[in-house]
Amino acid sequence: MAQVPNITLNTGASMPQLGYGVFQVPDNEVVEPILTALRAGYRKIDTAAVYGNEEGVGKAIAESGLSRDELFITTKLWNDRQGYDSALRAFDESLDRLGLDHVDLYLIHWPLPAKEQFVDTWKAFERLHNEGRAKAIGVSNFHVPHLRRLFEETDVVPALNQVELHPNLPQADLRAFHAEHGIATEAWSPLGRNNGLLDSSTVTALAEKYDKSPGQIVLRWHIQLGNVTIPKSVTPERIEANIDVFDFELAEDDMQSITGLETGERVGPNPEELNG
Ligand code: NDP
Repeated sequence: MAQVPNITLNTGASMPQLGYGVFQVPDNEVVEPILTALRAGYRKIDTAAVYGNEEGVGKAIAESGLSRDELFITTKLWNDRQGYDSALRAFDESLDRLGLDHVDLYLIHWPLPAKEQFVDTWKAFERLHNEGRAKAIGVSNFHVPHLRRLFEETDVVPALNQVELHPNLPQADLRAFHAEHGIATEAWSPLGRNNGLLDSSTVTALAEKYDKSPGQIVLRWHIQLGNVTIPKSVTPERIEANIDVFDFELAEDDMQSITGLETGERVGPNPEELNG
């Protein structure tokens, strides 16, 4: 079974550097792939209220036979629940669906800058953190100006920012800003979500060179950059392969050639433009 290294969050808590994402997996189909992932060694699961599968995640946790403190569970507040009171209620609903009394990490899913609610929302997150029901709190899809507003107007520095990040969008400036402020960088759509990245000749040539799959090459690039990452797959062989990336190392020039695949193209929305 794969052994995933931990990183330390600014709360002092340990978190596996690689976890399992369940976006687009229906509630009634999510238990089996999560159990496969847990058998393969994953201990961190990334869900969100909007994925509609928190109940299924809770069932898988209950069926896994693992103790709660062996697992690291993340969920996220959806956009229509931003605001202080609304966020507190939405958090309770997520915990109910998960069947848990705490999560290890709770994230604001999108900043929605035009709505001007993320600062109030963050104050609710600070309360959940102080109550110990969200062991760590963080954000997702935040850019530097959004993070700076939190620094100026609130007390707790986010433990982590989960953003779209893959070789076509390596986010070098944001990663440097996170490093400067002790915020962990977590990569969503780490494999580019079927955007052709895994078929690019750079990646397939490296797969041949290292005798690994294209997915493993890209995930290893994330690990060596210091990213936390959460690949999604419902295919047992891929679930197992995606965590099996800790027995080889990419040479520095190969790291550079993967980073050289930057095009700036996104698979998801631009956070500045999403307003609902
Ligand atoms: P990924 O980059 O993880 O790609 C997932 C797709 O790639 C699936 O279609 C999967 O197919 C396929 N795949 C997985 N592994 C391999 C492999 N080794 N070789 C070839 N194909 C592979 O994209 P996601 O968008 O799902 O991102 C991962 C996670 O990030 C999500 O599940 C979610 O938890 C999080 N996320 C967060 C967002 C946010 O706003 N905070 C936004 C989007 C995602 P199959 O399942 O059929 O095997």
